[in-house]
Amino acid sequence: MNKVNSPLIGKNLTDLKEMCEKHVVEPFRAKQLFNWLYSNDINGFNDLTNLPKEFINILKLDHCIHPLEFVQSTKSNSELTNKFLFKTSSGSLIESVLMNEGNRVTLCLSTQVGCALDCKFCATAKMGFKENLNSGEILDQYLLIRQKVKKPITNIVFMGMGEPFLNYKNVIKAAHLLHSPDGINMSTKRITISTAGVISKIKRFTKEKEKFKLAISLNGTTNEQRSLIMPITLKNSLDDLLDASKKYTESSNRWLTFEYVLLKERNDTVEDANRLITLLTEVQRCKLNVIPYNEIDGEFQRPNQNQIQAFMNKLRSAQFPVTIRWSKGTDIDAGCGQLAIKNNSM
Ligand code: SAH
Repeated sequence: MNKVNSPLIGKNLTDLKEMCEKHVVEPFRAKQLFNWLYSNDINGFNDLTNLPKEFINILKLDHCIHPLEFVQSTKSNSELTNKFLFKTSSGSLIESVLMNEGNRVTLCLSTQVGCALDCKFCATAKMGFKENLNSGEILDQYLLIRQKVKKPITNIVFMGMGEPFLNYKNVIKAAHLLHSPDGINMSTKRITISTAGVISKIKRFTKEKEKFKLAISLNGTTNEQRSLIMPITLKNSLDDLLDASKKYTESSNRWLTFEYVLLKERNDTVEDANRLITLLTEVQRCKLNVIPYNEIDGEFQRPNQNQIQAFMNKLRSAQFPVTIRWSKGTDIDAGCGQLAIKNNSM
C-alpha cells in the first residue's frame, strides 16, 4: 500500500515543535513554519520560501500541505452567497457557505460529515453520521476559501454540517488555530461555535474559559415540544440546558446567543413567545436570534408572515435583544439547516 503523507494544515505549534524535535531540526523552525502555513496562501512546498531547502526536503518525506481537495462552488442568484464543496482524504464530501452582508463576510464551517443528532427539521440529519472532521479538515475550509475570494473573511461560524460539540477537541483546536496571533489572527469575538445543546461540553467550554462566542440552538419552549423535534433533549433536558447556559454567562461574563428556528404549528405561538421571555429573562447577557424555517422536504413549514409578525411582536417586551435572521442562499440550498450532500457519486 502507498504511504499516505499527513497534511501540515491543522497542526498547531506544539505539533510542529514535536515534529522538528523528531527530525533534529532547530525548534525555532516550528514557529517559522506555523507562521508561513497560516498567514500565507500555500499550495505546495515551493511556497514555503522562508524555510531552508533541507528542512523542506524532510517535510516532503512524511507530509503534504492540504487535507482537503476543492471540488466546486455554487453562487446564489444574488451572488452574495457562495457554497463550496470539498472532498476529504477519506473521500467524504463536505460543504461550507460564505455569506456577504455589507462589510461583513461570514464563513460557515462544517465540523462533521453528516450528524448523529437527528434534529427532525435539519437536512444534515437525513445523511446520518459518517465521521468527525479533524482539525485540519475544519480549518482548511477557511484556508482554501480565503485563497478564492477577494474580500477578507471577517467572521467564522461553526454552524455548517455536524454538531461541533460532538467533535469538541478538533473544533476547539481549529478555533484556536484561527485565533492564533502568529497565524490567521482572527479575534475570538468573530468566531462563534453553535451547539444543539450538548450539556457536558457546554460545561467544559465554561470551565476551560474558552473565549470564542457560544450559540445554543433552543428551538423549543417546553421539554416535550423540544424532544419531538430535537431528540438530544431526551438526554439533555431543557431545564438542564438553561441551567448550564446561566452558569456559562455568569461565570464567563460573556454574551450567549440562543437560536430559535421558527416552525409552523410546532413552536410558533404567542404562548411560545411568552414562555421564551420567561425562560430567557433568567439568563443574564443573552440574545435571541429567530430564524424562520428554511424548507427542505415538506415535513415542516415556515409560518406565514402574520404568524411570524405576531411572534416577533410579542417578543418586543423582552428585556433581552431579539433579532430575526432570514437565511441567505436558500436558492442554492445553502441556508441554515439545508446542507446535505445530495450527490454522492462525485
Ligand atoms: N449542530 C449545531 C450547528 C449546525 S445547525 C447546532 O444545532 O447549533 C445551525 C443552525 O441552523 C441551528 O441553530 C439549527 O437549529 C438551524 N437550522 C437547522 N435546520 C434549519 C432549517 N431547515 N431552517 C432554518 N434553520 C435551521
